[in-house]
Amino acid sequence: MPIATVNPANGETLKTYEAMGEEEVERRIRLAEATFRTYRTTTFAERARLLVRAAELLEEDQADIGAVMTTEMGKPVKQARAEAAKCAKSMRWYAEHAEGLLADEEPAEHDVKDSGGSRALVRYRPLGPVLAVMPWNFPLWQVIRFAAPALMAGNVGLLKHASNVPQTALYLEDLFHRAGFPEGCFQTLLIGSGAVDEILRDERVRAATLTGSEPAGRAVASTAGEMIKKTVLELGGSDPYIVMPSADIDRAAKIAVTARVQNNGQSCIAAKRFIVHTDVYDAFAERFVAGMKALTVGDPMDEGTDVGPLSSEQGRSDLEELVDDAKRSGAAVLCGGERPDREGWWYPPTVLAGIDREMRIHREEAFGPVATLYRADSLEDAVLIANDTPFGLSSNVWTRDDAEVDRFVRDLEAGGIFFNGMTASHPAFPFGGVKRSGYGRELSGHGIREFCNITTVWHG
Ligand code: NDP
Repeated sequence: MPIATVNPANGETLKTYEAMGEEEVERRIRLAEATFRTYRTTTFAERARLLVRAAELLEEDQADIGAVMTTEMGKPVKQARAEAAKCAKSMRWYAEHAEGLLADEEPAEHDVKDSGGSRALVRYRPLGPVLAVMPWNFPLWQVIRFAAPALMAGNVGLLKHASNVPQTALYLEDLFHRAGFPEGCFQTLLIGSGAVDEILRDERVRAATLTGSEPAGRAVASTAGEMIKKTVLELGGSDPYIVMPSADIDRAAKIAVTARVQNNGQSCIAAKRFIVHTDVYDAFAERFVAGMKALTVGDPMDEGTDVGPLSSEQGRSDLEELVDDAKRSGAAVLCGGERPDREGWWYPPTVLAGIDREMRIHREEAFGPVATLYRADSLEDAVLIANDTPFGLSSNVWTRDDAEVDRFVRDLEAGGIFFNGMTASHPAFPFGGVKRSGYGRELSGHGIREFCNITTVWHG
């Protein structure tokens, strides 16, 4: 894939970049390693000062970088600005909390005695340069949720961003530089995915994190495994959105629309499979389809736009194939389902019903504004359908029944369960999945500790 900004709203190539050559990549890895040797000795207070400065700069740049993101990958500009604001908030959160999250831990006195020691503690020390392979769908947020904790822990970052968001990738390097972080703390590598393997094999690169597709995750994890390096993988999702009879149906249907089409439907934690109890199925379906039909699809630069284009031609044809396969196998199209005849990579908000297990869309991630509706006869049936997927990122349940809440918390196979609302990440809560959605966690104390050397310090 060329490294280029191509406007998904009309397919126009606006800017292309030469990939960095081997020498430049080598220079940057060397710089990362050298910077780490001194940066690791800085105090939490010093790192926090720099991160807060970066957050301030990002807040000042919100409108500009928001427009860049929209031009590069097509999300509505209002959502792009909100993404920048969320990043700044999370940077402040880690600036404030990292020291506490990584404070030395003291084992119980009787255990220290039992080990024959006089004193012991556990210290979280940084690992070194971490490679971050990141996707285009939240081009700022995916990076910041890695970078903020990594930098606060004393690590340094090397970013390989998706090839279709080079301007956002370069902006991020510049942001940390302007904030005053030592050169080499955070660098962008403008490279294609073919260059990742060799970097992962470099002894100076200590760990890797990847957000993206399963094939990309598999490639990075395989090499990292061979090299015995820690990885965190945040891959796809096909989150269930379960609606039970006790739910507030109006609200559940309204939030369902947002949960499905946020970011033009290209979010790993978007609700994708809507599993509705038969007692409220018709009432929910009617409201949900009406809401999907009422969305404003249009120029992502317009403030009033709800849904813009998909990020790439490939992404649009992948989605279209899933819908066509379902249609051929007998799914009912309740709205959308046909690509419009216009330039750019548009696909309309679509709802499909009558899904069966053999359809590809039942098992694969629909990365665009396409929802599937399922009818469940009971709570047990809803759980069965919800878990009948290779993924396990997050899940949503609408119910006002406490006994049902307990059952869902016990039985849903996912890294998150959100009741009476939609899944959203927050710096204080761990984020990640099970099954083929990946492993490891981002955000919260769990996220910052992923790339630490958890060190036992023992005194005889
Ligand atoms: P990819 O997984 O291909 O891209 C994500 C990142 O991984 C990019 O930086 C990409 O680089 C890099 N990459 C791709 N292949 C490799 C590899 N073999 N080794 C190392 N790095 C690699 O996602 P796509 O953009 O192609 O989207 C395809 C599908 O993936 C989507 O339809 C969706 O289902 C899923 N996806 C999920 C995301 C999520 O948030 N969970 C985010 C993005 C995609 P480059 O751009 O240079 O290819």
